[in-house]
Amino acid sequence: MLEISKIRGEFPILSEKVYDRPLVYLDNAATTQKPWPVIRCLEEGYRRHNANVHRGVHFLSQTATEAHESARSRVGRFLNAASAEEIVFTRGTTESVNLVAFSFGETYCREGDEIVVSVMEHHSNIVPWQMLCERRKMRLKVIPMNDRGELQLDEYEKLLGPRTRLVAVTHVSNVLGTVNPVGEIIAIAHRHQIPVFVDGAQAVPHRKVDVQALDADFYAFSAHKVYGPTGLGVLYGKKKWMDEMLPYQGGGEMIEQVRFDKTTYNVLPFKFEAGTPDFIGTTALAAALDYVETLGMGEISDYENQLLQYTQERLAALPGMKIYGQAADKESVVSFRLGGIHPYDTGLLLDKLGVAVRTGHHCAQPLMERLGIDSCVRASLSFYNTREEIDALCAALERIRKMF
Ligand code: PLP
Repeated sequence: MLEISKIRGEFPILSEKVYDRPLVYLDNAATTQKPWPVIRCLEEGYRRHNANVHRGVHFLSQTATEAHESARSRVGRFLNAASAEEIVFTRGTTESVNLVAFSFGETYCREGDEIVVSVMEHHSNIVPWQMLCERRKMRLKVIPMNDRGELQLDEYEKLLGPRTRLVAVTHVSNVLGTVNPVGEIIAIAHRHQIPVFVDGAQAVPHRKVDVQALDADFYAFSAHKVYGPTGLGVLYGKKKWMDEMLPYQGGGEMIEQVRFDKTTYNVLPFKFEAGTPDFIGTTALAAALDYVETLGMGEISDYENQLLQYTQERLAALPGMKIYGQAADKESVVSFRLGGIHPYDTGLLLDKLGVAVRTGHHCAQPLMERLGIDSCVRASLSFYNTREEIDALCAALERIRKMF
């Protein structure tokens, strides 16, 4: 059982006030707040351990390198990767997708080939593939969903063919909360010898992910959504692909030898890490992963699921409420519209009442189109949220409804 009041005490921002009201932070799918161990790790990193990694012979550089490489191993254990060399640090999920779209595309894709994505993808798991399709004169195919917000697997399999080079799908939808059956999606693709890229940005903060059990070829997430620092992300990629794939960016670190007539590239994972990495950030990400794993991913998941049920029941009871996403397996996100009130107005007024939510298209315009709306309000939960905060959200919505 999680001790929520103790946990809340470990996140200093949660005791801040906005407009003189206690902050109710329900925008966790956009970014999560940071606990003391992560904040201290960042502060100590700059105060005591700062030196560029990999290149220095001096003490500080060596300790910084050790901390950075041990953070890589920590991430590898967190995802249960077969080896730390399959873990590449990026700037975030977005950069991880761009890396694979470019490097996989350069290495394996030709005119007339196809990439399969789903209708519920975040723009960052659509646009890099579209760019690849434009570069290479390829086609993008889209897995449809049913009205509950679940992907239609029978339709999915029909999209796969001899020209399909890769399937790119989100583990958890950032709008609907749908948990996609990625294990099954991967197994189906593998029957056709097609690799799968999984966008894990909204899954990793909420449930245990095992890339080997899933048999994912690529898996990406962002540090800032899992209580770590911003501007940092992870790409897991199976060695068999990553070894063959051409590098994404050129520069320092990613080379073995540079000559004007020919440059050779470094081994994994450095081949994909041109330039100075965010070595302070990576150690803070390791601290964040220690933090959530000490709480227990199972405990986090159980608590958040109960809070999600409570949130959905409370919201559904409000007159004029329409909730988007009724998947059987759903993660801590509730998107909705209240009567005829524009989501932007709902969000602005909620803010004035101390409740932080997100409004808009949530970087998922094709999904909005499928839902027949242009925008919605999204409340997204973390293990530090409470029933009292959900009550505050509902009371604020009740007030807003009466105002209109
Ligand atoms: N994928 C999903 C499902 C997301 O929810 C997000 C961010 O909200 C991203 C990708 C992009 O993450 P980042 O902006 O950290 O790169």
